[in-house]
Amino acid sequence: MKASLSRCVRCGSNDLEDRDVEKLVRGGDNVAALRVRATVCRHCGERYLPDGAIRTLEQARRDLAEDKLTRFRTVGHLLTPQPDNRRLSARRARDSTYVRLSRIHVRNGS
Ligand SMILES: [Zn+2]
Repeated sequence: MKASLSRCVRCGSNDLEDRDVEKLVRGGDNVAALRVRATVCRHCGERYLPDGAIRTLEQARRDLAEDKLTRFRTVGHLLTPQPDNRRLSARRARDSTYVRLSRIHVRNGS
């Protein structure tokens, strides 16, 4: 397929190709991986998205933000690092304090 650009704006190379690329789109708490056609520089990797691909990604972003998920299928889990470990430890300490106090309370009441 003929590339729609003649030169890479970033590096000046004319070694460009049109191919499908994967883009991650986020809307609200939802994330989707979409394959869109792009012109890719084989020298520096820069990607140029045609207007149609940009419209597709923007529509997907709106749908995700509005929880309109019927056009998408779930293929796995989106993983993110656990929140701050010190905060988790503090919560565990609080929870164990609560359990200890409640046990004492039960004993005193019986
Ligand atoms: Zn380039």
